[in-house]
Amino acid sequence: MDVTALFKIQYGLFAVGVEQEGRLNACVVNTVAQATAEPPQLTLTMQKRNFTTELARKKRSVAISVLGEKTPIELIERLGTQSGRDTDKMEDVPCMRDAAGNPLLVGNGVVAHYSAEITSEVDLGSHYLFVLKPTALEKLDGTPTTYSGYRARKSTGGKQWVCTICHYVYDGATPFEELPEGWVCPVCGEPKSAFVLE
Ligand code: FE
Repeated sequence: MDVTALFKIQYGLFAVGVEQEGRLNACVVNTVAQATAEPPQLTLTMQKRNFTTELARKKRSVAISVLGEKTPIELIERLGTQSGRDTDKMEDVPCMRDAAGNPLLVGNGVVAHYSAEITSEVDLGSHYLFVLKPTALEKLDGTPTTYSGYRARKSTGGKQWVCTICHYVYDGATPFEELPEGWVCPVCGEPKSAFVLE
């Protein structure tokens, strides 16, 4: 069994926020997916040891901000790498509260807001899988980031390779520098030389 075959699955990147007893907390995950359309249901998988997971299990609801290509790397790392047990990660992070009081990120390249109730959970050992019923969905401007696009952006110091002709932002899993010379922009067909790091 080749577990690296699983690297072929594409993911987005999301900030999951919970308010509990007046305290705001959020963490970054790549594990939000739409499960059904009619009615709309989502799944969310979270590490058990994560503080936000504890809060979400008590609260039975979450606020999800869908992160975009323009979401600053520093913000993702701040919400992703520190534990809310020890620090107030949300201090100075612009956010608004949804109807349940849970925090949604404002600005910062966020492309959609989802508020949802947790309707069931499955114990997966290291993680809980939550099934979510949305109570509010809002689409904002911008293109969502993929997890691989975020990692590529991180490897270029937060910059992105952008086509100067059509403004397509490269977000493939292969580092831009390692793309073959014959590679062309998938949107306008210009060669690699038309791309700039910005
Ligand atoms: Fe292009």
